[in-house]
Amino acid sequence: MSPLATSLLFGSLAAAANLFGGLIIIKTNWHREYLKYFLAFGSGFMLAAAFLEMIPESLELLHSSPAFVLGGYLLVHLFEHGFAPHFHFGEEVHTEELLDPHVGTSALIGLLSHCFFDGVAIASGFILSYQLGIILFLAVILHKLPEGFTVASIMMASGRGKTFSLLSAAALGVATLAGVLMMGMSKGLVQYGLPLSAGVTIYVAASDLMPEVNEEPGVKLSLCVFGGVLLFMGTRQVLQSL
Ligand SMILES: [Zn+2]
Ligand SMILES: [Zn+2]
Repeated sequence: MSPLATSLLFGSLAAAANLFGGLIIIKTNWHREYLKYFLAFGSGFMLAAAFLEMIPESLELLHSSPAFVLGGYLLVHLFEHGFAPHFHFGEEVHTEELLDPHVGTSALIGLLSHCFFDGVAIASGFILSYQLGIILFLAVILHKLPEGFTVASIMMASGRGKTFSLLSAAALGVATLAGVLMMGMSKGLVQYGLPLSAGVTIYVAASDLMPEVNEEPGVKLSLCVFGGVLLFMGTRQVLQSL
């Protein structure tokens, strides 16, 4: 299979996880307590993947890649928190913040731009090697359920109804696939796509997911962050031995 076809296959799985995350909000009788473990494992895995794979690999491709890592970080900050007056991961419970429909829309736009780079990360990985592709796919899919859950809960809290909420979660999947397609069709730009998506990954892990982990009392969830790093190490070991 070509790198583009493989990326699209794995990108579709990630997109489906966005939709499933949205369904968890719609189906009020579904359990959701386990989602916080995805936040914790996801942030550990993503940080390890960014610092131990994406940045070293980017440096081999492009001397000035650190500037693109910083650029990716700042870009998500701008879209998720600069333009959006109220946005955080996890269930949206501050309905008073969402009385203005613009608040929900700007949060959606912020998440869409971040999801586009989730797709860029997956495709960049598969362009460079099958192993890197799998690792970056895992880094993405580990936070896809909470992502879909987050956007659907924002829409529900702003009174948009179940259909719109689910469509918003689906839109995140579409943005992810758009990133896969865009990167997959312009392989020559991978030296920019990889460090940019590394910066995005660091932002999502350290500035979006980690605060939600820290909100939780007790040490259990913090230890899960280390568990995410160990999961990364184990996965890399297995992939290298194949
Ligand atoms: Zn809120
Ligand atoms: Zn994401």
